[in-house]
Amino acid sequence: MIAERLEDVRERVYKAALRSGRDPDTIAIVAVSKTHASEQITEVINAGQRILGESRVQEALEKIPMFDSSIEWHLVGHLQTNKVKYAVKLFRLIHSVDSIKLVDEVNRRSLDMDHVQPILLQVDVSGEISKHGLELPKIPQFIHHVSTLKGVKLKGLMTIPPYFDDPEEVRPYFRKLHELSKKLPKWGYPSDSKIELSMGMTHDFEIAIEEGATIVRIGTAIFGSR
Ligand SMILES: *Cc1c(COP(=O)(O)O)cnc(C)c1O
Repeated sequence: MIAERLEDVRERVYKAALRSGRDPDTIAIVAVSKTHASEQITEVINAGQRILGESRVQEALEKIPMFDSSIEWHLVGHLQTNKVKYAVKLFRLIHSVDSIKLVDEVNRRSLDMDHVQPILLQVDVSGEISKHGLELPKIPQFIHHVSTLKGVKLKGLMTIPPYFDDPEEVRPYFRKLHELSKKLPKWGYPSDSKIELSMGMTHDFEIAIEEGATIVRIGTAIFGSR
């Protein structure tokens, strides 16, 4: 069941890439396993999935040790400052860094462990006051600041747009994140480095791919409903 759904998702990613003139191999699927049990995670790993995503640090701390260390775990959910010490090094990529205060803590804990933690900056593209994500006017300063830190490596941007029944309506938000990514070098992001764009979930990942997503975070379409 999970294997078939994963295959279906891969096929849809592949087709969305081709119809937007992109190389399907440049798009990574994160299988978001939050709330799902280890049996289901084993199924998806046996079906060939190597990148998994969790949303809460506490849950991830219990699950991750149960699996082969070659599996790449990403944190996709909000990160609280008091959980940073557990998240650093545990996750190959933290998608949800959204403030200077948080990135400073990630940096401090990483340096303590002689580690360089890959992160994404979570952006609030909607301009409404969403719960998480850095507001657009604060982004240049954040990018400058990160470039001075030795314990973190910024790899790109992530967003969670507002929900619409019609996924077409989220297209402008994905486009906005893509446009924003082009300005990063101006603010100090190394101009020769790839910029990952983590956007798109079960409901809208094909549109996200058409708009330039390099990482899609998919839970329900792979694992079933939570
Ligand atoms: C749960 C979650 C997902 C996956 O959501 P689905 O709609 O089940 O695909 C993706 N990103 C984040 C940040 C999440 O919390």
